[in-house]
Formats: sequence, structure tokens, C-alpha cells
Amino acid sequence: MAPGGPGRVVVLGAGLAGLSAADVLVSHGVRTVVVEKEAAPGGLAATCRVGGFHFDFGPHRFHTRNPAVLARVSALLGGDLLQVERLSRIRLLDRYFLYPLSLGDVLRRMPLRKGAAMMASYMARRGRRLFGGLPDDSFETWVVNRFGRCLYDIYFGPYTAKLWGIPPSSLSPDWASQRITVPSLTGLVRETLFPRGEKGARSLVSTFHYPRGGIGRISEAFAARVREGGGALMTSVEPLSISRGPGGFVVETTAGALEADGLISSIPVTRLAELAAPMLDERSREAAASLSYRSIVFVTLRLAKRPEPRDHWIYTPEDCYRFNRLSIPENFDPSVSESGGQVVFEFTCQEGDQIWNGGEALAAECVSGGERLGLFRTGEVMGHAVTRQAHAYPIYDRGYEVRSGILLEAFDALPGIVTCGRQGLFRYNNMDHSIEMGEYAALELLGIGTLRERFDWTRSTWADG
Ligand SMILES: Cc1cc2nc3c(=O)[nH]c(=O)nc-3n(C[C@H](O)[C@H](O)[C@H](O)COP(=O)(O)OP(=O)(O)OC[C@H]3O[C@@H](n4cnc5c(N)ncnc54)[C@H](O)[C@@H]3O)c2cc1C
Repeated sequence: MAPGGPGRVVVLGAGLAGLSAADVLVSHGVRTVVVEKEAAPGGLAATCRVGGFHFDFGPHRFHTRNPAVLARVSALLGGDLLQVERLSRIRLLDRYFLYPLSLGDVLRRMPLRKGAAMMASYMARRGRRLFGGLPDDSFETWVVNRFGRCLYDIYFGPYTAKLWGIPPSSLSPDWASQRITVPSLTGLVRETLFPRGEKGARSLVSTFHYPRGGIGRISEAFAARVREGGGALMTSVEPLSISRGPGGFVVETTAGALEADGLISSIPVTRLAELAAPMLDERSREAAASLSYRSIVFVTLRLAKRPEPRDHWIYTPEDCYRFNRLSIPENFDPSVSESGGQVVFEFTCQEGDQIWNGGEALAAECVSGGERLGLFRTGEVMGHAVTRQAHAYPIYDRGYEVRSGILLEAFDALPGIVTCGRQGLFRYNNMDHSIEMGEYAALELLGIGTLRERFDWTRSTWADG
């Protein structure tokens, strides 16, 4: 145990951030209890294995720019990481476009008149930007300023509206700047004059890592190491309240009270604010109430045959499909199905709405949608599974950064509590960042540095994710 550090810590949430934190705490000899509301660990990065199904919650590829995180994950899995060449495309106007979007590819595959209109609007925007252009004050203006109105109307606008359920003009430009790579004009000219063709297109397919057997193997291995190190993992247990107690905190849970000297939380920061409400002022509680998350319903179809496309995932921005993306688990690792194949469809929604409560009807939509996309024939569908994640994406509506900042600062000011991870920091980040944040949160509690100083927020997402 670190001198002066906490002897007993409660970690809320057993996703990658919570488990990574618990792993570090246990290795420092801290008595650690992880409290997880679901029956199994892993959070968004779990793998579902039930009744012949074997799939992740949407496409999950492991990639990191931090060699220390890669080394940690690789050691955890005994090196059992596949190196996979990525292929992902966008289905639009009954044809496929490369993803990440390449303007040269779009121009070559677009119907002629649409392509010409797109190019004209792109050039017009580039021209206007030389003289200042529109302010980047929303997702919509950010994209229109860089890609032109026409491509925005065909792809970015409809896809974003479907994903978030609010008009892109109400979304912060942060989401665009964190996730979209902007091609240079010279790159566009080069691509248009010297098309890469199908063979050249492979160069766009970057490689990524994938644990053999499913992305959930990372969290399962973390959980096993926490238990082996003497930590406890309580699943199907929920915290009910958090209060100051003798020497630290008392966390009331559905399985009884837990006393701790320190607390790490990776559950939604909005829920943490409810649990710890008496410790927060009115302004912070109001900030918490103004933040929300987007949910996803995943419909997985089991098929008699593996679908033909070799894509890892395909975006479906058009309104004729209510799902916004689909993925094919066997293209990440063929061993996940002994025979046949699966397709996982994603429907973004708000918890409790009509899509969230949909089951059979959504499955029927996936069967007809998948057939229309040419992935399979209805007769090849052998069954379906419906799974849900309530907190999939923190909603970056305009002004969210001020409101989330108020809340996070309030928790920063409370000694002994560290909030981290995608849900805990209201941050649209990737798996490697959650692993890193968990580690730094534990080190902060141990008095060996601070999460905010150590984590480089400016590189917290890879632009092409
Ligand atoms: C569809 C999709 C695709 C993605 N693809 C990629 C990808 O390709 N590559 C990549 O790197 N990242 C990807 N991500 C992001 C990645 O999944 C997350 O960044 C990462 O898994 C987050 O880990 P976390 O521990 O921070 O949060 P979470 O995984 O959300 O963990 C939080 C945990 O807290 C638990 N919890 C919540 N509320 C409570 C409560 N009240 N009490 C107790 N426990 C609670 C949850 O059940 C969960 O286990 C994707 C995300 C989604 C949604």
C-alpha cells in the first residue's frame, strides 16, 4: 500500500476504466471492491455469449497511440491479440463509399450530377473560408465549412441527425472536430487524378488489434487479475447512496453498506451526482440534470451463412433504414462462430422511448433491411437477440462543455473521490483512453499524480474512429 494512501477503495462500474483502476489499486495492496450493476463486467466493451450468439456491442477495434497501454493489454492477454486489416464503408444511394470518407472516392462513385453539385459546393465553401467563412458554432456549420453543403445534406446531416436524435445545428462542433478527418485540397486533386482503385483502396484500411474470441476478453482478463490479487467484484449490485463516514465514505448498495477511505467512479457522472447529491451545491446538481446520454439497442441476427461483405462495419445514413450502422463479428475474428455468421444492427435512441422498448419489430426491420442491403436472404436468418446499452454516447449538445465542466470541477474539489472513464468524465473516448484514465485515477487516489495532469485531453480520441 502507498504510504499515506487509502487502505480500502470502492470502485463503481466494472467497464474498462473501473477494472483498470481496480487492477492498479490491487497491485498496490489496496483492499478493493468493485460494484457493478450488470451481471457481468465489461460495460460497453463486453462480449455477449448466449444461446449460440457471440458478439460485441457494436464494432470494437482496439487501437492506441500509447505503447504502454498496448503493452499492458497485450501482457494481460498473453499476447493473444489478432492484427486485423480494417475495411469499413458507407452505404448510400445503393452503392458503397469508403470510410473514412475520401472525397476522391465519393466523386468517382457519385452519380455524375450529384458529384458535380458536391464539388461545386465544396469549392464554394473553400473559397468562402479564405475570406473568413461561417463561424464553427455547431456540428452543421463545422462540416459545411469544410465539406460543402451538398455532401453535408447527403451524408453528414442525415447520419448525424439519426445518430443523436437532435438537429446537427444543436450539436457542439466538438464532436465533429474530434471525430472527422478533413482531407486536404491537394489530397483531393491527387486522388481524383490518380484513383487508387480497389487494390489501392486497401491502403485506406488501417490495421487494428482484436483479442481472439471477442473484445470482452480484455475486461474478463482484468476482472480475473483483480480477483486473483484479492480484490472483490460484486456484480448485479447497485449503489444507492454515498455519504461521508468515519475516515472516508459509506456507500449503501443493494447488497449492504461498504466503508471506504477512497472512491473511484466510472459510472455516469450524472448518476454519481444523484448518489452524492448532499455533497454537491445547487449549481452542480443543476448542471448534472442538464446532461444526458444517447442509448443504443443492438439487434443481432444469427445466419445460416456468413455474409459476403468483408467489411467490419457499414454505416447506413439513409432514412429508409432506422439502424445507423451494422457490423459483422466474424470479420473481426472468424472463430466467434462455429458455423454460419451474425450481423449486429445498431439503433440509437433515448432510454425508454419506442425504439428502446422495441424487440420483435426491430428484428423484423433488420431482416428486411439486411436483405435489401444484399447481406443475406430472409430464409437464412436463424434467430435474433436484442441487447441494450443505456449510456452509449455522452450527448455533446451546444454548451455541454460548460455544464459538464461545472460538474467535474465540483467532483475535483471533493477529496477522496475521483470520477473517470467515458461515463465518468462525460467524454466521447475510446477503450484505450478508458484504460489509461482508470490507471491515472487510481494513481491520483494513491497520491502518485493527478488524472487531469497525466491524461492528455487534447488527444483523447483518434479522429478516424
Ligand atoms: C457502439 C460502440 C462502438 C465502439 N467502438 C469502439 C472502438 O472501435 N474502439 C474503441 O477503442 N472504443 C470503442 N467504443 C468506445 C468504448 O466502448 C468505450 O470508450 C469504453 O468501453 C468505455 O469504458 P468505460 O469503463 O469508461 O465505460 P463503460 O464501459 O460504460 O463502463 C461503465 C460501467 O459502469 C456500470 N454502471 C453504470 N451505471 C452503474 C450504476 N449505477 N451502478 C453500478 N454500475 C454501473 C456499467 O454497467 C458499466 O459496466 C465504442 C463504443 C460504442 C458504444
